[in-house]
Order: sequence, then structure tokens, then C-alpha cells
Amino acid sequence: MRIALDLDGVLADTIRVWLRIWNEQRFPKLTYESIDTWDFWRKLGISEAEFAEIFSRAWQKWEEIPPAEEGLSEKVMRLSELGRVDVVTGRPAEERERVAMWLRRHGISYRNLVMGVTDKVKLGYDVYIDDSPIVATEGSKSGRTVLLRDQPWNRFVRSNSYVRRVRGLDEAVFVLSGEL
Ligand SMILES: [Mg+2]
Repeated sequence: MRIALDLDGVLADTIRVWLRIWNEQRFPKLTYESIDTWDFWRKLGISEAEFAEIFSRAWQKWEEIPPAEEGLSEKVMRLSELGRVDVVTGRPAEERERVAMWLRRHGISYRNLVMGVTDKVKLGYDVYIDDSPIVATEGSKSGRTVLLRDQPWNRFVRSNSYVRRVRGLDEAVFVLSGEL
């Protein structure tokens, strides 16, 4: 079983730092729960490029990015007992060093770090653990298992035979163990 484990929103709580940068300089002030759509930046009247630029600034402060849940190291280890785990992210390749340092700091072991991916489902992993509604949609179209990490910005996604909502990696391990 090949598992594509997402970075932002699954391992790394990057949006917290994004929000801090935003709230220090811009209006309206935003809370975590207010990020209720994938393209929430549209409502702020900013471009996708500007959203991405703030995201890059968040990763420049990689040491401040908290893990998305406690005990990541052990949880990813348990996941690795079930399959081959690659960290697969849309983060651009030039951020590899920072991302690798973040993963090392949090004791996350993985086979490959695959960066700059625009269409994850095309890579043909058996399982995607991801917070993206797009991965959920594309995954179910292609018959791939998507464990959708619950986040305020994906609550509108309905589960189906391919997409299952999980609250964290423990639940992902639990679901995948049952599938074996
Ligand atoms: Mg993500």
C-alpha cells in the first residue's frame, strides 16, 4: 500500500502562521474556524498569488509552524507499518530544505518527500491522507481512497465509498488497519 501523506493541514498547522501574518497587517481579522472554504482568500479580495505569497512567508518561519496534532512522530510510524509513506505536497521544490527541516524537527519518518505536485491523484497512490477538497473530488473520480483530514475548510465535502473523513492520523491508522 502506497500512502501519500499531505503536509499542510495534515502534518503541519501552517494556516496558524498564515493567519498570524494576515492578522498582524490586514483586515478583516480572521480566526481558524472562519476559514470555511478552500479558496477563502477570494472573500478577502486578494489574488491566489497573494495567498500563496503569505503561505511562503509562513514557511520562511518554519520553526513557528506547529504540528497539526500531538504525537505525530509515533502516529506516522504506525502508518509506516501499514504501507510505504511518502510526504506529498504542493509546496514548491525551492522550499524543500525548510520542509525537510520541519519534518526532521518533528521526528517524522517517510520514504520520499515529493514536492511541487499539482495533481496528486495522477501520481497513483493507493491512499491519500489530505485536507484538500480537490484531492477528495479527484480521488473519488479515480477510485482512490482518500482519508480527508477534517478541517473547517473541507466540512462541505461528503463522504462516499472512496472518501472518508478522519479527525487525525490515529483514525487514519484505524481505518487503514481495517482495510488490510
Ligand atoms: Mg493540505
